[in-house]
Amino acid sequence: MRTIVAGNWKMHKDKAEALALLSELVKANAGQPAGVEVVVSPPYPFLDLAVNAVKGSGIQVAAQNCHAAASGAFTGEVSVLMLKSLGVTHCIVGHSERRQYFGETDAQVAEKLRTLLFHGLAPIYCCGERREEREAGRHFHVVEAQLNEALAGLTADELERCIVAYEPVWAIGTGLNATAQQAQDMHAFIRGLLADRGAASVPVLYGGSCKPDNAAELFACPDVNGGLIGGASLDASQFSALIRIARERKA
Ligand code: PEP
Repeated sequence: MRTIVAGNWKMHKDKAEALALLSELVKANAGQPAGVEVVVSPPYPFLDLAVNAVKGSGIQVAAQNCHAAASGAFTGEVSVLMLKSLGVTHCIVGHSERRQYFGETDAQVAEKLRTLLFHGLAPIYCCGERREEREAGRHFHVVEAQLNEALAGLTADELERCIVAYEPVWAIGTGLNATAQQAQDMHAFIRGLLADRGAASVPVLYGGSCKPDNAAELFACPDVNGGLIGGASLDASQFSALIRIARERKA
């Protein structure tokens, strides 16, 4: 089973700071045994320099979003073909901040996911329930509905090229992570849904206030295949510590 640690920088860093962080990560990753796939996801303006900065290091670069169309009159948008031409290999889709602040629907997320697969990029597909949905005991139902819409009609081969990130919305940026038990229960549930579609080996990452002090417990869960990391990915020593923990736990 693959293990992945992916950093989502969101709308943080300027160019000099981005270059400094990338160079620290490349240094920290040098000579490390393979086994954990490392992905960084800087904002759009820094993707080109990121691809160049990590060349030869084994670190891969993701975008945080994309448009579903190949090109067109969509002012301010970025296409998958543009990302591909830069050497970007992954793209986050369906992040809860895109759903919450930009009104992205499950149907739009599904369309983006298909465009990414069509052009050979790996979608990092985010799903997860809101606080009130968990409190109402509807979290499994919510995540199942999200996955059903996003993954409908995909072949097992297409599914195997996806990465799923379970990100309970109440845990993102709040300092309030899911417990290992809550994460494992949901990851096992997601694994079952993927297995029903012939794709049990799709990596399922945990995201939501994952930090070096709680990662060992979370990454040790049998169905947690690493993490999608927000805040802690902005600091080279914290992000490197998370990669190290993932490597040790999954060794
Ligand atoms: C995220 O936004 O994907 C995320 C997991 O953020 P944080 O780690 O800051 O909660």
